[in-house]
Amino acid sequence: LFIIALMRLKNIELKNFRNYDDFFFSFEKQKTLIIGENAQGKTNILEGIYYLSALDSIRIKKDSELIKFGEDFSKIKANVVKNGADIELEVLIQPPKNKIIKVNGLKKTKHSEFQRVLSVVNFSSSDLMLLRGEPAFRRKWLDNAICQIYPIYADKLAKYNKIRLQKANLLSNYPVNLDMLEVFNSQQATIGANIIYLRNKFLGELNKIANKKHAKIAQNEELEAKYECEFLTSSDISPKEIETALIQKMNELKEDEIRRAQCLIGPHRDDISYLINGVDAKKFASQGQQRTIVLALKLAELDIIKEKNEEYPILLLDDVLAELDILRQNYLLSSIEDNIQTIITSTDTKAFSEEFLADIEVIKIQAGKMI
Ligand code: ATP
Ligand code: MG
Repeated sequence: LFIIALMRLKNIELKNFRNYDDFFFSFEKQKTLIIGENAQGKTNILEGIYYLSALDSIRIKKDSELIKFGEDFSKIKANVVKNGADIELEVLIQPPKNKIIKVNGLKKTKHSEFQRVLSVVNFSSSDLMLLRGEPAFRRKWLDNAICQIYPIYADKLAKYNKIRLQKANLLSNYPVNLDMLEVFNSQQATIGANIIYLRNKFLGELNKIANKKHAKIAQNEELEAKYECEFLTSSDISPKEIETALIQKMNELKEDEIRRAQCLIGPHRDDISYLINGVDAKKFASQGQQRTIVLALKLAELDIIKEKNEEYPILLLDDVLAELDILRQNYLLSSIEDNIQTIITSTDTKAFSEEFLADIEVIKIQAGKMI
């Protein structure tokens, strides 16, 4: 018998986080609707929750932006039920110092040990960036989704980025120490190949699910999401083969890398492409078609995490209903199973049916306070 456990976010505390000075909320029901006018702090709550799962924000590059203006630290704390066990998560953000992460009061050094606790799927209107945005946005989404089912991946990414920075540093010192460069190249290729391999494998699985979801909303339109990397020459290529190809390319590009003092090749340069009936959706899909693709991708992400972790992730829906037409709204709402904890934001309750609102807790936010 296949039993899927229920993950639950019991409560959240935000201290000096964005426009909140001291916020605490206890989630009593499986579904919560956060209502408020524009710029009151709805998204900020979701961002705080998301941060506990990804140790990174969707919106920003710098942690310091999360700290309330005029303050010098920010704290997020939550209680989570995972596989039946109560777990307390706490992050202290205080740049330029490293953030302090704690699980059940114990400090952790590895991000993966923290990130393995809470899984979250976030769906917001800015997810259209998965089509319209820069490749970095797509890589971030893919990486975060992989971390949710394979937490060690977070450490691999951190290691890769560290090697990349060290190598860039080496490249910027004239004359470049070529022996050291070879060492860095070899390290970068080993871990880089692993990342490429895992991303390609994950996206392949996600694509199968997304393709089916997409077909339910848009008949006669075949979606294909593909990992774009020049080293993926065949579908069953091994990490070792990718590594060899990476090293070879690094050797070809050695002069260029030295001249530009940059790492010019590796998974940090890859992308995702989407095809609708074989046509590049980033270039040719209409707004509605783009939304349908994003909806299919997000619901596929939810399914894949549920299946792999044998536990439901928490679903965050930030203002997305307003962006969808009735067909797509209904498809989304009916796809949210009852037992999935869902936190939704909206400017009002109008978009929701009475039936949907019947068993949902509605809270109202104004200027960083619950009213
Ligand atoms: P909308 O309906 O427009 O999406 P929202 O309720 O989701 O609005 P948020 O994105 O949560 O609004 O932002 C609320 C407010 O938080 C904004 O006015 C923003 O200026 C403010 N804010 C963002 N970062 C900080 C910060 N570091 N310190 C203080 N306030 C901040
Ligand atoms: Mg918002």
